[in-house]
Amino acid sequence: MLNGFEADRFACNVETTAAQYLAPPSQRDYIKAALFVNTLAEEEYQARVSDDGMIDCQAGCAHCCIVNVAVLRPEADAIAAWLIEHRSPQEVDTLRSRLITLEKETRWLDDEERMMVRKSCAFLDQEGRCDIYPVRPLLCRALNSTSSDDCREAVAMLALDEQRPIVSNLLQKEIFESAFRGFGEALKQNGVDHRSHRLTSAVRERLERFRPNPQEEK
Ligand code: SF4
Repeated sequence: MLNGFEADRFACNVETTAAQYLAPPSQRDYIKAALFVNTLAEEEYQARVSDDGMIDCQAGCAHCCIVNVAVLRPEADAIAAWLIEHRSPQEVDTLRSRLITLEKETRWLDDEERMMVRKSCAFLDQEGRCDIYPVRPLLCRALNSTSSDDCREAVAMLALDEQRPIVSNLLQKEIFESAFRGFGEALKQNGVDHRSHRLTSAVRERLERFRPNPQEEK
C-alpha cells in the first residue's frame, strides 16, 4: 500500500462506478465512461500525490513518447471525438495520414525496438507537447519520471543495448494503472470489448468510424 492508496480497492471502485455508462446497449456511452474514469483517476491523483517537485515531467519533454501505448476502446473513442471537436477537418485528415504511416512503421515493433528507431507518437506536436493532453490515455498519465535527463540517457543507451533505470513516482503509476485495470474489468463485466489496443491503430480506426473519408466512401 502506497501512501494509503489501495490499488485493488480503487480498481474495484472504477469498475463499479464506470458501469453506470456501460449498461445495456441503448444506454451505453463509451466516451462518457472514458472521460469519467479519467476524472476519477485525476482526482485520486490530486488528492494523494503532493506537488513536492519530485516529478520532472513537463510540457515539451517527450523522451517517453516513443513507446507503444495501450488503450481501451472507449479511450480511443474519447480521443477521436475530442480531435473532431477541437481540430479542423484538414488537421484531422493530416493526423489520420500520420497515424496510418506510423501504424505501418511500428506494427511489428515491441517497445524496445520502437525506442531504438525513435518512432515518436503521432500526437506529439512540433514543440514536443502532447496534442491530446486533456484526453491522453490512462497509461500515458501513469508514466512519469523524477529526472528527464535519466529518461534521455535511458533511451540513448538502448542503442548500445544497455538498460538504465528510471526513478518514478510509484503512486502515480499505481493510480492510473489500477484505473485502467478497473475500467477494463467494467467493460468485461458489461460484455463489451475489454482488450488493450495500440493507441495508434485504435484512434485511427475510431476517426475513420466517426468521420469517414469521403473519397474512401466512393
Ligand atoms: S498520447 Fe500524448 S502523452 Fe501519450 S505518448 Fe502520445 S504524445 Fe505522449
